Amino acid sequence: KDLLNPKYTFDNFIVGEGNKMAHAAALAVAEGPGRDYNPLFFFGGVGLGKTHLMQAIGHEVLRTNPNARVKYVTSETFTNDFINAIRTNTTDQFHKDYRTVDMLLVDDIQFIGGNKQSTQEEFFHTFNALYNNNKHIVLTSDRDASQIPELEDRLVSRFKQGLSTDITPPDLETRIAILRNKANVNGLQIPDDTLSYIAGQIDSNIRELEGALTSVQAYAVMNQEDLTPNTAAKALRSYRSNAAKSAPSIADIQNTVAQYFNLEVADLKGKKRVRSIVVPRQIAMYLSREVTESSLPKIGQEFGGKDHTTVLHAHEKIADLIQENGEVSRDVESIKKLLQK
Ligand code: ADP
Ligand code: MG
Repeated sequence: KDLLNPKYTFDNFIVGEGNKMAHAAALAVAEGPGRDYNPLFFFGGVGLGKTHLMQAIGHEVLRTNPNARVKYVTSETFTNDFINAIRTNTTDQFHKDYRTVDMLLVDDIQFIGGNKQSTQEEFFHTFNALYNNNKHIVLTSDRDASQIPELEDRLVSRFKQGLSTDITPPDLETRIAILRNKANVNGLQIPDDTLSYIAGQIDSNIRELEGALTSVQAYAVMNQEDLTPNTAAKALRSYRSNAAKSAPSIADIQNTVAQYFNLEVADLKGKKRVRSIVVPRQIAMYLSREVTESSLPKIGQEFGGKDHTTVLHAHEKIADLIQENGEVSRDVESIKKLLQK
């Protein structure tokens, strides 16, 4: 779990106006970890390359020193590991796992905010233990540290004591370069005018840009058409209408789950602890996380204002039950089918 993605290297990272500060800082840290910019804090919107850049640092450190201990986790994993360590009386091992590394990369640190005080406190001590030993810490967040809700002041000030740098959306030139690189990596020959066309159509985030490229390619193969801008236009039109169709909202999920189990949506949003309601509620939260792009806090909010750790717990619980492949796994499959209609 939480290993580095082999594709997220500096080689595959295209530098543009919106990320060049972040990129320069990342390179500096990769070349001299434990020195400047500790912690290094990247923030910015979804799909702009925060995870990629953070992992590129890890790859580079490991390339120059294969014995280095680089640990990559999301803040959710940190939280879960900590909760599990307490539950199983293994906090010593937990401290060892987190405090004896050479570099700690924590992705999406915004989710540490709003956590029980003990988790934030634990992160504070982890941070200090590493920092005081000149070990490097790299963090990403969807917003500036001071904007993270319910984040303890002492963590905000730790996060800001190194270098904070934001990543902003790529301009057209950068988007074209990213597409060209992606096409090369995948061994695709795509004419420049087609790449420009796609880059002109998708200006929100890079993950979507990649999705668009893949679907244009698939469309061209399926319909045996050349990869012209005209083909790209048709492909993107069908890609968009499919995306609109196949993306149910949290409310859709709640309605479908309630109907399936013969319950009221209010039961799913409520607090009743009987099993006949708890499991459907957890299934609805699980599906909200799996099939929508919503954040954990947003999902919690849509379920009657629950904490995001409740959503996380529900997700894990249902994932476990699905593994056991019993009734719950069949229910989830059936509900997914209903959602596709
Ligand atoms: P974030 O963590 O900010 O949500 P990611 O790092 O997951 O975004 O990036 C989303 C996708 O876009 C990934 O597949 C990543 O490889 C790609 N990507 C992002 N920025 C760049 C870039 N500058 N050059 C090439 N690919 C990029
Ligand atoms: Mg990310």
